Amino acid sequence: MNREMDCTEARERLSDYFDGEMPDDQQRAMADHLADCESCALELVSFADLSTITASLDHPLPPAGLWGEIAAQLQTEETLSPENLATAQPFRWTTGRYAPLVMALAASVVFAIGWFGYQSNLSMIGNLAIASVFDQYFDTLHQDPVAAQQILLTKYDGQTVDAENAVHLVGYRPAVADGVPAGYSLHTTNVIRMPRGDCVHSQFQRADGSTLAIFEHDGERPAWFGKRPATQAVHGDKNLHVVDVDQRVAATWRQGDRHLTVVGAHNAEELGQLAGWFGERTNLMPE
Ligand SMILES: [Zn+2]
Repeated sequence: MNREMDCTEARERLSDYFDGEMPDDQQRAMADHLADCESCALELVSFADLSTITASLDHPLPPAGLWGEIAAQLQTEETLSPENLATAQPFRWTTGRYAPLVMALAASVVFAIGWFGYQSNLSMIGNLAIASVFDQYFDTLHQDPVAAQQILLTKYDGQTVDAENAVHLVGYRPAVADGVPAGYSLHTTNVIRMPRGDCVHSQFQRADGSTLAIFEHDGERPAWFGKRPATQAVHGDKNLHVVDVDQRVAATWRQGDRHLTVVGAHNAEELGQLAGWFGERTNLMPE
């Protein structure tokens, strides 16, 4: 179990967390805290904003403390309604638990840097929120895959499906719908509604009972892996973006019209086998 982090410690260490300068166990404790504490998450977002604005823009900054005032005002007076925001930006996570955070931030960023800066900062803030959710998912997947699945279902309004239902929801037949490689069994499949578009999330079990996750999605989703560095690896005709996650590896590659992301592989060899197997399946199936 991770040692729990309280708000005082979290506030003191936001800067280190933002810069990626924390030991792994503390980073996990911080991610857990941020996922459950909107107040500290808002603080992180303000911090991220100030850092970005200071680094990239020549506009003068508003006085210190104004961020918090705007946030407080928004939460009490709701001067910026969800309806206004929904028409202004493309993400769905303006509903749900991040809504107050997103609205407060959006207003402060618009105030400080204008509309164009607002669009790019909103994207960065969304990435921070997603990385925090996926940190939780990665931490949970191997100990308790059902709980890990539940994190995604809850955060992203997902549902458990069979292959036929998945087709109706996402408009294509998922790669896992017609079988899985030898040595694995398909344990569960979900459709999750993510900010950059729907994903089909599946969990495979190996013969030893351990779990591997596969996501199918449009476009690459590097935000899931936060600040972890990616390396390139070539397997057959696939170009894999490989990321170390704790003691395991994850990878994303292009698969037909979409991308597959594997999480929880033991090593590069297992990734290569999976990429090869799915690659052959796609080549055989006219679409
Ligand atoms: Zn807190």
